[in-house]
Amino acid sequence: MVIPYGRQHISQDDIDAVTEVLRSDYLTQGPAVPAFEQAIAEHCGARHAVAVCNATAALHIACLALGVGPGDLVWTTAVTFVASANCALYCGAEVDFVDIDARTYNIDVDALAAKLEQAAQSGRLPKVVIPVHLCGQSCDMAAIHALGQRYGFRIIEDASHAIGGKYRGEPIGNCRYSDIAVFSFHPVKIITTAEGGMAVTQDDELARTLRLLRSHGITRDEQDMSQPADGPWYYEQIDLGFNYRMTDMQAALGASQARNLEAFVAQRHVIARRYDSLLADLPLQLPWQHPDCYSGLHLYVIRLKLDAIGRSHREVFEALRADGILVNLHYIPVYRQPYHARVGYAPAAFPQAERYYAEAISLPMFPQLSQQEQDFVCARLRTHLA
Ligand SMILES: *Cc1c(COP(=O)(O)O)cnc(C)c1O
Repeated sequence: MVIPYGRQHISQDDIDAVTEVLRSDYLTQGPAVPAFEQAIAEHCGARHAVAVCNATAALHIACLALGVGPGDLVWTTAVTFVASANCALYCGAEVDFVDIDARTYNIDVDALAAKLEQAAQSGRLPKVVIPVHLCGQSCDMAAIHALGQRYGFRIIEDASHAIGGKYRGEPIGNCRYSDIAVFSFHPVKIITTAEGGMAVTQDDELARTLRLLRSHGITRDEQDMSQPADGPWYYEQIDLGFNYRMTDMQAALGASQARNLEAFVAQRHVIARRYDSLLADLPLQLPWQHPDCYSGLHLYVIRLKLDAIGRSHREVFEALRADGILVNLHYIPVYRQPYHARVGYAPAAFPQAERYYAEAISLPMFPQLSQQEQDFVCARLRTHLA
């Protein structure tokens, strides 16, 4: 028996939706993409949703739409997937990191405020800050937004883990406290399009730019053209964009998946509550849920209380893997990655991220994880901690 840490849930409806597109006139640039965009926009309460080929592309064009370029600084959290940082480098900007909160593992707002105060004095403030809703739990967005007003930075929420979650009773992705939010639809995430991503925003102008950049910088809208159309064939490239489009097969899968979004997240909560009770007496720090948040629960991360157990983090991890439980670690702090480390970040500047990395393990978490599988995971973990 092998139990992954995450996996997609594909229904017959999903298969039918994709098959229908395959039999239709358009495999890409057809009607399924705007239909999926509308479904996500409505779910989030966002004016605009722009579907792209993956969340990494969404982060890239979100940075460009906010004007990130050479000489600029982008800050993100130390504990995230590398894509949250790489988007800044794609734009020729520099990236820096902020330590994490000891309880939520999200960007630490006090550390952010202190770093901003220092940066204001040295004249090196970030243009954009990218908070990441780790495991699906929202960052303290009201506080980050207030800092943005004070120090003049823009905000991209990396909500790759968090679709279906809420912050202060409102859906993540309504951009009340940000300029743009980004979702990922990779198969391990909450809903999937195989590869796929989405950028949502309330801002008409940002949405226009995101759409342009997703498709080569080409417009067919006469209002945006430099001259009257030469004829019905005419279009203009007015910016340097990319081919970051999502296909109609992916969008149809996404729209079908989105119909189950709330059920998927609810099922993740059932599994998390069950872990909470099955693991309560073990020497572990279990996920803490902030009262402002309803998490998307992409991940269930435990932390080992190393002082209270006789084995190392690595030994516990390897023992679980040997049992066929494909635990994972989300994430290696990005400043530790060789490509990023060349800049010379000091790990000592991120004590909470360092501790997290020494203790964290992501347990299997996906809607179809059976009680039997979950019991097995908990029993094996109990044995390895004894
Ligand atoms: C998965 C993920 C991404 C990248 O998503 P893709 O759709 O695979 O490009 C970016 N940021 C975070 C936090 C992620 O977990």
